[in-house]
Amino acid sequence: MAQENQDIKRYFADTTTDDPIVNHPQVQKILNVCRAMSLWPMTFGLACCAIEMMSFGMARFDSARYGAEVFRPSPRQSDLIIVAGTINRKMAPLLVRLYEQTPAPKWVIAMGNCAISGGPFVYKNQYGVVEGADQIIPVDVYLPGCPPRPEALLEGLFQIQKKITGRRWWPQPEEAQKSDKW
Ligand code: SF4
Repeated sequence: MAQENQDIKRYFADTTTDDPIVNHPQVQKILNVCRAMSLWPMTFGLACCAIEMMSFGMARFDSARYGAEVFRPSPRQSDLIIVAGTINRKMAPLLVRLYEQTPAPKWVIAMGNCAISGGPFVYKNQYGVVEGADQIIPVDVYLPGCPPRPEALLEGLFQIQKKITGRRWWPQPEEAQKSDKW
């Protein structure tokens, strides 16, 4: 099993991206705001957390309000991978492949305890589950919970936007409750 992990990591290690050819700071700043406000998540659910991810995109939580409404069925048209569920060893190489097929720049949210650390499926001598998405692909934001609620996924989206642009764009929940504006 350790050898299998090594193989996946070695495979992944070849997927670095180059710096942009033209790197003008002001242009990059504008591009980053555009990227942050138009994230396209990949339609990719692995287990029960995916139900919460679906809810995140539907009317009540409506991720479209924050620019992330266009769930794409192809990694080639996505820039946000939400690892929503348990990563079985059988699925691990496919997750790596999807990550590689997603064009850079790209971001990853590990949603739920399974994607963070294997969750309730971790016990002595278990051999079926990868104990964390970050063992096989880079992860930008970790969302704990079993499952995290859709509001938590919205917060994860805000954290990705903050990571891309360097600032938080939406009020903290307690600020929003106090203000008429929100
Ligand atoms: S974290 Fe809990 S809800 Fe999410 S996939 Fe694992 S077992 Fe299911």
